[in-house]
Amino acid sequence: MPIDTLKSLLGPLGLITEAADTAAYAEDWRKLYRGHPRAVLRPANTDELAAAVKICAAAGAKIVPQGGNTSMCGGATPSEDGSEFILSLSRMNRIRAIDPIDQTLTVDAGVTLKAAQNAAEEAGCLLPLSIGSEGTAQIGGVLSTNAGGNNTVRYGNARDLVLGLEVVLPDGEIWHGLRQLRKDNTGYCLRQLFVGAEGTLGIITAAVMKLVPQPTELAVALCAVPSPEAALALFTRFHRNDPAAIQAFEYMSGAGMEFVLRNIPGTTLPLADRAPHYALIELATPRPNAGLRAAMELVLEAALAAGDVTDAAIAESQAQRAAIWRLREEHTEAQKREGASVKNDVSVPVSKVPAFIREATLACEALMPGIRVVPFGHMGDGNIHFNLEQPVDMDGAAFLGRDHDIMDTVCAVVRKYDGSFSAEHGIGQLKPYMMPDWRGGAELAVMQRIKAAIDPAGMMNPGKVLP
Ligand SMILES: Cc1cc2nc3c(=O)[nH]c(=O)nc-3n(C[C@H](O)[C@H](O)[C@H](O)COP(=O)(O)OP(=O)(O)OC[C@H]3O[C@@H](n4cnc5c(N)ncnc54)[C@H](O)[C@@H]3O)c2cc1C
Repeated sequence: MPIDTLKSLLGPLGLITEAADTAAYAEDWRKLYRGHPRAVLRPANTDELAAAVKICAAAGAKIVPQGGNTSMCGGATPSEDGSEFILSLSRMNRIRAIDPIDQTLTVDAGVTLKAAQNAAEEAGCLLPLSIGSEGTAQIGGVLSTNAGGNNTVRYGNARDLVLGLEVVLPDGEIWHGLRQLRKDNTGYCLRQLFVGAEGTLGIITAAVMKLVPQPTELAVALCAVPSPEAALALFTRFHRNDPAAIQAFEYMSGAGMEFVLRNIPGTTLPLADRAPHYALIELATPRPNAGLRAAMELVLEAALAAGDVTDAAIAESQAQRAAIWRLREEHTEAQKREGASVKNDVSVPVSKVPAFIREATLACEALMPGIRVVPFGHMGDGNIHFNLEQPVDMDGAAFLGRDHDIMDTVCAVVRKYDGSFSAEHGIGQLKPYMMPDWRGGAELAVMQRIKAAIDPAGMMNPGKVLP
């Protein structure tokens, strides 16, 4: 039995076996999946983790890596048959090094994204990755899902921000790839294999992340816009004016905003009237006295005159900036409080976002009368969370029972625009069934060969990503 060997390796803090104690690790954030782990392993460092993986490999035991457990697609939830170990990175949370000259941050994989951001800020730098779950999601999880978030429009997603990795492979070997190099053309780029692999190829134990200078000026505005087309026109105006200044450009539907105002205490709309659609714009620069506020006003005045914007509020203080961002960040929680929802984290070319929103809305309303369409998300990079809320008088479980119908309806429109059925949340156990249809042929075959080469025994996160 590996349990006894694991117990003497990891000690009482490093091994959880009682069902009452493993329960918190066994269910996903959305409460779509509940597994039964054989135990939860919580190693304190990379050597312990590697030794634990070797013990599991020798016993043929399967491992589900888990970070903050905020996956939107059940990626970190084990199977129900009690055979899989959860490997939690929660005790590996050291900031290893920060270098303001190289602009790099080296952290254990179990450091939360928020703690990593704070460490960067203390050194006068910015880790330019921001997602709604950043207080809980960990660097290892963020990299394993190639998280995107609010600032992708300017800095790219997690993949673009990683310089080096330390990874424990499925046989327990450690790959020491914590390089800080901006240039390194020495064969295949292994780190990018593990980014977005959702724990199916190995366990990320530490990372070197790229930093940028901390902005000294920020300007944030919430705009009422008459249509998704107007929101896109507004984005284009800001882009033409100064693409380098745009740090975020987010779209929200009127219905989604109503959910937030109704369900989240303390939220208020800083505009005179409710609108059918909204855009949130954040401009930022490290240059002092750059006049961002004036640039923001100039673009908004032109958009107001053209009718692309009907009202706008520019934040006057840090508190107002936070209040505007809260209206956006609470969308997920507000939708949770409204009942059952089916989430479609999709992307299309930026120019096609308005047509996609319109057509997918009509298609879903035709599929299920009374369904509530609440799209929002990162319009600046073509990524919309096209979420559907249950009709008010429908049973939540019955609604979720139609999830494949709904996802397929939305994805038919995504396909029309050559988009992706998973823009930033990944595949997990929710969407492997879609892989053959969307990524079949040579693409899926190569992925399967990579999996077989790195994890021939299939012990890493079985049932996730690949069908
Ligand atoms: C409110 C809310 C808002 C969100 N907003 C965004 C957003 O804006 N953008 C976005 O991209 N996502 C978002 N997400 C989704 C989610 O937070 C991200 O996917 C996040 O990156 C997951 O990090 P985690 O540490 O919680 O990973 P987990 O949920 O624990 O794991 C996710 C996957 O990564 C694997 N994994 C975790 N750690 C490791 C590791 N160290 N090594 C190898 N594999 C590992 C797991 O096995 C699993 O497959 C949001 C989620 C919530 C709940």
